[in-house]
Amino acid sequence: MDKCYACGGTVRVVKDKPYHYIESGLPIVLHGIPQYICEECGESYAAIPDTMKLHRLIGKSICKKRKAILKADEIKFLRKNLQMKAKELADTMGVTPSTVSRWENEKKDIGEAHDRLLRLLYMTFVSEHDHSAVREGTMDIFRDLPKKRKKIKEPREIELNPQEWLTPCIECCPA
Ligand SMILES: [Zn+2]
Repeated sequence: MDKCYACGGTVRVVKDKPYHYIESGLPIVLHGIPQYICEECGESYAAIPDTMKLHRLIGKSICKKRKAILKADEIKFLRKNLQMKAKELADTMGVTPSTVSRWENEKKDIGEAHDRLLRLLYMTFVSEHDHSAVREGTMDIFRDLPKKRKKIKEPREIELNPQEWLTPCIECCPA
């Protein structure tokens, strides 16, 4: 890619700049992603390979690394990645669709039990897709969650490196 799609100007490739993946709706920072910056209009875009797999990695990172009660945008991300409509997730979790909407609109906290159930559902979904159920350490997630949890306002960024989702067998043969 050497011409800007917006203005036709010359595009410069930047390889080592962290990319804030705002499209995900979450504070995700990707490393090692080539970015294209137009020298004329300043338009910038990134080439993100295998977004399906990346999204599952982000979902797993939320389930594993977020020790606080799941936030609205995290719940929404997990549900969308589960490819479920609010009603389907509600049926699966034994709540009403309006409860799911309230979680996602920050009107209501998801609560301890449903937070854990959603993580479990998500990890089950991932293990069915990535065939790595044994290696996911799902049990550890629940063992490591603090007993008394609070909501946090500004969660830390989750930083991801390309080898985490582009290497096919990272789970079973780490470097
Ligand atoms: Zn341009």
